[in-house]
Amino acid sequence: MTAAVEVRSAGRTFTTREGTVVALDGIDLTVEPGEFVALIGPSGCGKSTLLRLIADLDQPTTGTVQVFGEPARQARLHQAYGIAFQQSGLLPWRTVAENIALPLQLHRSPKEDRRARVDELLALVGLEEFAGRYPDQLSGGMQQRVAIARALAERPGLLLMDEPFGALDEMTRERMQTELARIAGETGAAVVFVTHSIPEAVFLADRVVVMSPRPGRIRRIVPVDLGPEAERGEGTREDDAFFAAVTAVREALHGAPIDPRGVETR
Ligand code: ADP
Ligand code: MG
Repeated sequence: MTAAVEVRSAGRTFTTREGTVVALDGIDLTVEPGEFVALIGPSGCGKSTLLRLIADLDQPTTGTVQVFGEPARQARLHQAYGIAFQQSGLLPWRTVAENIALPLQLHRSPKEDRRARVDELLALVGLEEFAGRYPDQLSGGMQQRVAIARALAERPGLLLMDEPFGALDEMTRERMQTELARIAGETGAAVVFVTHSIPEAVFLADRVVVMSPRPGRIRRIVPVDLGPEAERGEGTREDDAFFAAVTAVREALHGAPIDPRGVETR
């Protein structure tokens, strides 16, 4: 089966007036179709840069990035993935339904198909009642739901998310995590999710990729044994496996002695 994402020996160096920054070095990462992978690490370790390479918003200095077996560039040209960032990026003059319809409209999908798809997406993110509202009439959590619906509009096999819940209060954030787990399960999309929250990474992911800064490298990959995303809920947060994974990620982040045999590099 073709991987959703295949990053091979990727590096990214930035040259600035202040000098050279090795943002990423020797990154190898494979994300399987339908798999949920969280990227975690201290600020500046290259999480956003890695996500941007996968999205072809930036290009690696060395190495290669493939999405569903094609170069990232090709994948971007036919919308193999959807993107959601910390700022929802909604257009304030468009209603919720019109924001969700935007990618479909840009790609000239017929009007009736568009309407049906928007209805499906509104139901998926639980915003049927809010189709006609404008973004500034919604809470932060609801705005992020709209952004997720928009990212999923064209049924991408891959969703790229950069701290999408970073600006939300803790309770809303947990609710959104539960929603996203369900949505990821229902759509079957692979997800690469950047966060700096350990419990968020563990709650959502099949594997947590722990990165270290300067140069940005993968320090360890922690598998999470909490069952399918769609079945994760409030009880999950009290599961022994949840605490075990939180501890493993914390130790990896804080640089506990690393047993190289514990590093998974599939
Ligand atoms: P993170 O998302 O993990 O906080 P980033 O990927 O944003 O980290 O950044 C990784 C490193 O690369 C940082 O040191 C940052 O300053 C540097 N960097 C990122 N983008 C650029 C750029 N366009 N020009 C110069 N340096 C950059
Ligand atoms: Mg970032």
